[in-house]
Amino acid sequence: MSSSPSSGWRVGRGSVCYPVMSEDTGSSLFRPDLLAGRVALITGGGTGIGAGITRVLARHGADVVLASRRREHLEPMASEVAQLGRDALVCQLDVRDRDACDAVVAQALDRFGHIDLLINNAAGNFLVRAAELSEKGWRAVVDIVLTGTFNMSQAVYPALRDSGGASIINITTTYVGSGAPFMAHSGAAKAGVLNLTRTLAVEWGGDGIRVNAVAPGLVEETEGARRLAESIGIVDAYRKQVPLGRLVTIDDVAATVLFLVSDAASQITGVEITVDGGESLGGGFKGISDALDGIP
Ligand code: NAP
Repeated sequence: MSSSPSSGWRVGRGSVCYPVMSEDTGSSLFRPDLLAGRVALITGGGTGIGAGITRVLARHGADVVLASRRREHLEPMASEVAQLGRDALVCQLDVRDRDACDAVVAQALDRFGHIDLLINNAAGNFLVRAAELSEKGWRAVVDIVLTGTFNMSQAVYPALRDSGGASIINITTTYVGSGAPFMAHSGAAKAGVLNLTRTLAVEWGGDGIRVNAVAPGLVEETEGARRLAESIGIVDAYRKQVPLGRLVTIDDVAATVLFLVSDAASQITGVEITVDGGESLGGGFKGISDALDGIP
């Protein structure tokens, strides 16, 4: 199998081949008009995994609202969405600010008239020993990840209730299940997001709103991977723990989000789907903890 990008396939470790959904919709299992008429609001939709999710939702017919703090992160993605023939609204937003979340929802409703999908993807994270984590650092991550997810969900709820078939996806992580050495702030916040996912699934199910989570393992070519793994040389330790033989790609995560927001998942709510090639089933975090212990 060729690794040519135009083929829509890439070759991973051990010659494992996998489809690259962002190359074209030809490798997608879903119809290109799957989300036609839908509006998706993606926090952190201009970079990394959020950009990949934005791309795949737009490629399948959705218009998008891109919301994060820096316009320079959002504008290029909005241009890409426009080239796909979809409409993109760019909104500057700090998810920690509840009033600002309301303002984004108002702008989106003004532009599109409805919001059907919410992807809570915005996050912050950094490596630090729990004993050395400052209150400011703890608060920053917990406020963005957990409070930000709650703020945005609550702000969008009335619009989702009116949508008739709405869906929220919260991006969590595999270390919610295993504990999160050197990421106590992020691990605790993401665990809170998982619990919130289940709570809202129950409370809002009667309103026709499904609420699910997607938990990636280490995702190659992302800021998260650079900051939390590449910077300290532990990518190989991760990769060795993946039974399927390669790291997760942005497209793997985006494809799972697409499935969960589609009608194919119309009876799925309150679940977390892990996308990690089986990494969290294998050696757990032992090898990584050992590697981190060697760092001065
Ligand atoms: P990323 O590119 O740094 O994405 C984070 C996004 O959040 C950025 O677009 C950022 O945009 C936005 N953001 C940060 N603080 C914000 C705030 N206060 N208000 C609004 N937006 C804010 O990192 P990534 O690696 O793609 O991660 C995306 C998601 O996947 C995160 O939820 C992360 O926890 C999760 N995840 C990542 C991995 C991985 O290996 N990368 C693994 C598991 C889970 P601005 O700077 O413009 O605000």
